[in-house]
Amino acid sequence: MRIPVSKPDITQKEIDAVLEVLQSNTLSIGPKILEFEKGIADFIGTKHAIGVNSGTSGLHLLIRAMGVSDGDEVVTTPFSFVSSTNCFLFERAKPVFVDIDEKTFNINIDLIEDKITDKTKLLLPVDVFGQPLDMKNIVNIAEKNNLKVLEDSCEAIGSEYDGAKAGTIGDAAVFAFYPNKQITSAEGGMIVTNDDDIADICRSLRSQGRAVTGTWLHHEQMGYNYRLSELHSALGVAQLSRINEIMKKREKVAQLYYYYLKDVDGITRPWIDPKVTNMSWFIYSITFDKGIDRDKVMNLLNEKGIDSKPYFTPIHLQPYMRKMFGFKEGDFPVTERVGNSTLALPFATTMEEWEVKEVCEAIKAIIGKF
Ligand SMILES: *Cc1c(COP(=O)(O)O)cnc(C)c1O
Repeated sequence: MRIPVSKPDITQKEIDAVLEVLQSNTLSIGPKILEFEKGIADFIGTKHAIGVNSGTSGLHLLIRAMGVSDGDEVVTTPFSFVSSTNCFLFERAKPVFVDIDEKTFNINIDLIEDKITDKTKLLLPVDVFGQPLDMKNIVNIAEKNNLKVLEDSCEAIGSEYDGAKAGTIGDAAVFAFYPNKQITSAEGGMIVTNDDDIADICRSLRSQGRAVTGTWLHHEQMGYNYRLSELHSALGVAQLSRINEIMKKREKVAQLYYYYLKDVDGITRPWIDPKVTNMSWFIYSITFDKGIDRDKVMNLLNEKGIDSKPYFTPIHLQPYMRKMFGFKEGDFPVTERVGNSTLALPFATTMEEWEVKEVCEAIKAIIGKF
């Protein structure tokens, strides 16, 4: 029996919710998406929530809604999932990467201002692995320089920094619901914002550029089909109803890892900023000391039936990014060092103590050989 790197937590409640939609004859554009949107808006505390078919779609719609286009510069982090950069490459804007903080793995806020030019349009920070950012500080920098702020909170639903939920401080944010995320709708995402104009544009663009109050074949602008189906929405609603339970269980798994890894030499456990008042765990990643080959550890774990993953491979070193912009090794040293030495361990809401223990004992035995 293998221990997978992630696993969704699906109960009878989720199964019933999806079956009910199948029997209702309304499979898209119905009451479930509205219920999911209202649920997220209430939970996060924003005026608007707009459901879309993926986190990437949500990010792309916000890039369009914020008017980021040809030649504009976006200041962001290279230590993320590729979507947080692709979303503005789709609109031919240019990435300006800032290296990360060694401890949190989030964008190093102290380095942002130096990268702002007269072409900068947007700051796009990412709440990496669920750890929320000091968004007030980032918004201050943005206001001084007349920039918008898009927070990629795809990994951080429910996290809080200094009492403020991830996704509530900038101009808009996105959450994602792929099956490895804290809560899932199989595929799906949610834009959140307090800005009426941004919300209107996103609602129109996700459904082929229709006016929100217009007819089916009237298209105000060039849009997309980024809609979230009723089946996906119903699954999302059921998961959201359990979010407090899910976050608590994930916190427990993270604590078990913290405990069972406490006397393993050669690794560093995740560091959570004390200003984080609520941590919504996305993954659990450890960092290996110099001299321990991360990939070798991963392969040996695999032989023992334990799945793990390097998380993340830096965006600027992806083949297409090197080709498009000429990025190379050495451009963002902290990102690269972290990217080469971190490993995401099996992590799921349903993970049992014996599984965590088994993973930790396997790591200990493997590292002992180095
Ligand atoms: C999951 C994720 C996304 C969105 O991914 P989708 O698969 O499109 O839902 C975007 N950014 C980050 C940082 C993510 O982890």
